[in-house]
Amino acid sequence: MTDNWILVAGGAGYIGSHVAKELTRHGVQTLTLDNFVRGHRELARWGAVEECDLADKTRLREIFEKYRIAAVFHLCAFTYVGESGQNPAMYYENNVGNTINLLNAMAEGGVQRFVFSSTCSTYGEPLEIPITETHPQNPVNVYARTKLMVETMLKDYERAYGMKHVNLRYFNAAGADEAAETGEWHEPETHLIPLILDAAAGLRKEITIFGTDYPTPDGTCVRDYIHVTDLARAHLLALDYLEKGGASDAFNLGNGKGFSVREVIKATEKVTGRTIAVKETGRRAGDPARLIGSSAKAKKMLGWEPRYPELEKIIETAWRWHRKFNKK
Ligand code: UDP
Repeated sequence: MTDNWILVAGGAGYIGSHVAKELTRHGVQTLTLDNFVRGHRELARWGAVEECDLADKTRLREIFEKYRIAAVFHLCAFTYVGESGQNPAMYYENNVGNTINLLNAMAEGGVQRFVFSSTCSTYGEPLEIPITETHPQNPVNVYARTKLMVETMLKDYERAYGMKHVNLRYFNAAGADEAAETGEWHEPETHLIPLILDAAAGLRKEITIFGTDYPTPDGTCVRDYIHVTDLARAHLLALDYLEKGGASDAFNLGNGKGFSVREVIKATEKVTGRTIAVKETGRRAGDPARLIGSSAKAKKMLGWEPRYPELEKIIETAWRWHRKFNKK
C-alpha cells in the first residue's frame, strides 16, 4: 500500500469510521473528511480529520492541495429511503451533486482511484436470489437511484479521465467494531438491529415488525446482514485490487445467508438474555420480501472472506457498542 494519504469521505459515519479504523490499523495514512451533519465528531478518531462539506468546492480544492491523496473512499451520503422520496432535491443534491464536486476535485488533482459505497438496493426488486452483480439494476426509490447515478457517472469519468473505480454494493450493514470504539449511531435510528437493542435495553417499549404476510418461511422479511468490519476490510482489499491494476468493477458484499425479522429478534433475545416485546403491523412501503447477495465475486477477485458471518456474533458486537454508548 502507498505512503500517500487515503481520503475517507464520510469517515465520521457508521461505516466510514470503521473504514478509517481499519486503514490506520494497517498503517495507512488516513484522512477523514466530514461535514458532521450526519456524521459524529466522536467517531472521527482515526488519522487526520478535516471538516469539509462536499458542496464547498474551494475547501475541497484546498484539501487536495494540502494532502497528496492516492485514493478516495466515498461514504458520504444521505441514506433514508423514506426521506429520499419526500425530499428528492436534498438527495440528488448531496448524493449526486456533491459527489460530482468530489470527483472533479479528484480529476483536477490527478487522483485516479475511487472506491464507492454503493448498495444492493440499486438492484431493486430481486428477480432471482442470491443476487449477483449481473442482476439488472432497477432501483425502486430515490436513494437507490442516486447511488446508481453515481455508478453510471463513474464509467464516464473513467473513459474521459482514466479514473478507476470499485463499486461496493453493500447488503445490510450491521454490528460494531469488536473493541466497541465505534458503532452504529444514526439520528433518527430506523435500522432493525439497533432498534431491537433499544427494546432490549428498555429504551423503547417494543419492536414493531413491518409485515408478517411475506412469502417467506415465517412471513417476515429476510435480509442479508453483513458485519461492518467485514465491509471495512473489503475497502482495503478493493484499494489493493486497484493498486495492482485491477479493472473498474462492482462487487456485492453480503453473507450469502438470509435471516428473517423474527430470527433477528430471537437471536437478539439469546445474545442479550432479555425478552423483547413485539408489535406486528403492516408492511413498510418498498420492502422486498427477500434480499440475499452472492459475494462469490468479491471472494474470488478481492480475496475477501467475512470474519463475522454468524448473526449472533454480529449482534453481540452491536450489543457491546450499544451498552457502552447508552451506558446501560
Ligand atoms: N424492520 C422491522 N421493524 C423495524 C425496522 C425494520 O420490521 O422497526 C424490518 C424491515 O421491514 C426490513 C428489515 O427489518 O425487512 C431490515 O430493515 P432495515 O431498515 O434495518 O434495513 P433495510 O433492509 O431497509 O436496508
